[in-house]
Amino acid sequence: MKLFIRGTVQGIGFRPTVYGVAKSLGIRGYVLNKGTNVEIGIKENDNVEEFLNSLMKELPPFASIDEIEVKDETIKGHEGFEIINSSEGEKTSVTPVDTAICDECVRELYDENNHRYLYPFINCTSCGARFSVIENVPYDRVNTSMRDFEMCEDCLAEYTNPMDRRFHAQTISCPRCGPKYTLYGKDKETVVLEDKKNPIATFAKLIDEGAIGIAKSWGGMHIICKFEQANRLRELYKRPAKPFAVMFRDLNAIEKYASLEEEEEKLMIAAQRPIVLLDKNASSDVLEDISPGLGNAGMYLPYSGFHYVLFHYLNPDGIIMTSANVSGEPMVIRNEDAFELKAEYLLLHNREIVNRIDDSVVRCCEGKNFFLRKSRGFVPTAIKIPYKDRVLSLGAGENVSLSISKDGNLFAFR
Ligand SMILES: [Zn+2]
Ligand SMILES: [Zn+2]
Repeated sequence: MKLFIRGTVQGIGFRPTVYGVAKSLGIRGYVLNKGTNVEIGIKENDNVEEFLNSLMKELPPFASIDEIEVKDETIKGHEGFEIINSSEGEKTSVTPVDTAICDECVRELYDENNHRYLYPFINCTSCGARFSVIENVPYDRVNTSMRDFEMCEDCLAEYTNPMDRRFHAQTISCPRCGPKYTLYGKDKETVVLEDKKNPIATFAKLIDEGAIGIAKSWGGMHIICKFEQANRLRELYKRPAKPFAVMFRDLNAIEKYASLEEEEEKLMIAAQRPIVLLDKNASSDVLEDISPGLGNAGMYLPYSGFHYVLFHYLNPDGIIMTSANVSGEPMVIRNEDAFELKAEYLLLHNREIVNRIDDSVVRCCEGKNFFLRKSRGFVPTAIKIPYKDRVLSLGAGENVSLSISKDGNLFAFR
């Protein structure tokens, strides 16, 4: 028996889940990524129905299944159950989105005894960069910008251990084998770090002292500085009135500056971790320079390991963290282009950003979410439509709205 599963089934820990369910039920066969889909082979006489029922109950949080096609084909060999090498196949499913670092990874990040202590690229099968690093499908390391970083023995041991939460996590890495940050001055010179401090610690100290910096994240780069530097930032980048996004250490810090409804709070801590437009507190005038003349400001919480490490070293509870781009241009993603922006310090890493992903911006209103920008965490997600033709739709206005449809999936952007 062969099962062909279409939907969001790659890059979110689907194969390890299939493996775990099959093993627990004594099912014999295999699972593999094929094109953008997953194929599961199950030996004759094994209980497919029981297997599927269990699998549906244990799906990983970001999996979504559109279709399961069953073919009555005999499986030869495979007396146990195994994850086998990916292969080419149809490309109809949706690439998984980037999702914020999970609680378990945050716990490890702050655990001094963990070998990923304060490691900014920490992730697991449930969290991390996906769409921003994928060049092609199937979603395997060789098809991502993690290809350049060969796994060390420790990571390989986790990757191959079915009981480990990083079993088959394609972008697994650690301080020994993963990407690294380097701190530069504005003339591309490498900043010498005091007392063997790590570059993020030094960057945080410079920000504390009033510097304007740029930091590379998962899907793009951000301009970073303290609130007090807002007007200097406006002069430097010729943005006289444009609102800046601000990132806060945690929800408690946000509550000092803004009123927070329950639905807004839920959205802010969701795995998509968007920027949410929140009404500023009347008592707080600190944010006036952030979004001059407006009653609200775009606020968000740390979503990558890097952000958590940065706040570990920073003094303030909130900082300006706004897209790094030349006015009217898309967000910068290449290291060499970042130097054009004339920041005083640049904290850059050596992993390529394959797909540019800006931060999503959402406003909550009467229980509904309205997108001002639909991007990280929400794109690409498909809306199912009843026709298979390829159609490009373009909206009018100064901000481009568009959608592309293919094979019954419609992808909307704005
Ligand atoms: Zn995780
Ligand atoms: Zn490693």
